[in-house]
Amino acid sequence: MISSKGYAAQSAKSMLSPFNFQRREVGPHDILIDIQYCGVCHSDLHQVRDEWENAIYPMVPGHEIVGKISKVGDHVKKFKVGDLAGVGCFVDSCRSCSSCQAGNEQYCEKGMAGTYNSYEMDKKTPTYGGYSNCIVVDEKYSLKISDKLPLESVAPLLCAGITTYSPLRHWKVGKGMHVAIVGLGGLGHMAVKLASSFGAEVTVLSHSATKEADAKRLGARHFINTKDDKEVFKARNRFDFILDTVSANHDLNLYLDMLKVDSTMVLVGAPPEAVPVDAFSLIPKRKALAGSMIGGITETQEMLDYCAAHDIVSDIELIPINEIENAYVRMLKGDVRYRFVIDMSTLS
Ligand code: NAP
Ligand code: ZN
Ligand code: ZN
Repeated sequence: MISSKGYAAQSAKSMLSPFNFQRREVGPHDILIDIQYCGVCHSDLHQVRDEWENAIYPMVPGHEIVGKISKVGDHVKKFKVGDLAGVGCFVDSCRSCSSCQAGNEQYCEKGMAGTYNSYEMDKKTPTYGGYSNCIVVDEKYSLKISDKLPLESVAPLLCAGITTYSPLRHWKVGKGMHVAIVGLGGLGHMAVKLASSFGAEVTVLSHSATKEADAKRLGARHFINTKDDKEVFKARNRFDFILDTVSANHDLNLYLDMLKVDSTMVLVGAPPEAVPVDAFSLIPKRKALAGSMIGGITETQEMLDYCAAHDIVSDIELIPINEIENAYVRMLKGDVRYRFVIDMSTLS
């Protein structure tokens, strides 16, 4: 076994604190990544505090992982020692169901093995995430990372990037479309960068008036403060596609009213509580409400390559790991521009 160290939550109420644990030895198909940076996703906070009621403790969060490979198994083909590599939200899946065969491992019928707060496919070995010094992953579930971009700003692409890229591609967002992004946080700011790079005319729908200048700098053409009823009313029937990245409970009907005929609103934000949807928000204009979860390995690699080719990275604030609790507090207040990333060299 490989001795590892990280930060873990011991319960929903405890603060994250230093934690020593074991990772498996590097198998023939595995790589060992020395983690350099790990992004801080709002899903980390939901799970650490057991807001989705699925927590497994002790929990080492983190699924926006990048670093350098220090060891490879005998049968590894894609990587060599010294290469950069990344790990996103899952580390394995059944590999044989129709979703896995289609490259949608995140929708594996047997349930994917999440990078943390989950179990390996044996359903009994707990997985530990990227708030740690190293990780052992099968090369098939690892991503190649370009050395052209600043590594710390690439880390958030492994979740915030792919979670927004995948639905934008699936619903064919591009030139000539009016697209709204709800919530300008970690996911939202990536969605703005990606949708505008695909050629869409982007509007940010935000409940923080102070984010207007940033929204425009990131690529949005328009900004609507959702606390301004007049502005919201004027936006009815305006959008071909809406991507909702909001982490807290909010009224979906308000946004559904902004869709045109035959248009779709996709939820990627995952607030803990269910919210009511009025049938008449959907019926009169044959609107659709859908969801989307991260993306498969092939699509994640495609997104990383696209971002490297188009110089797209996350706007980040680098923090030492002992600042993580404060980062959570600030994330809850919407005080992050636009992703915290942990510098793992501070884990000593
Ligand atoms: P984040 O950085 O905290 O951003 C969330 C944004 O939501 C905030 O910046 C804020 O934007 C908006 N918001 C917060 N509270 C609100 C409220 N009460 N009313 C209206 N808007 C509010 O979080 P994130 O890391 O981007 O994650 C967003 C959500 O996506 C989380 O629930 C996370 O668990 C989920 N997620 C889902 C997937 C997936 O696969 N589907 C993957 C990753 C994350 P404004 O200030 O602009 O309003
Ligand atoms: Zn995430
Ligand atoms: Zn499967």
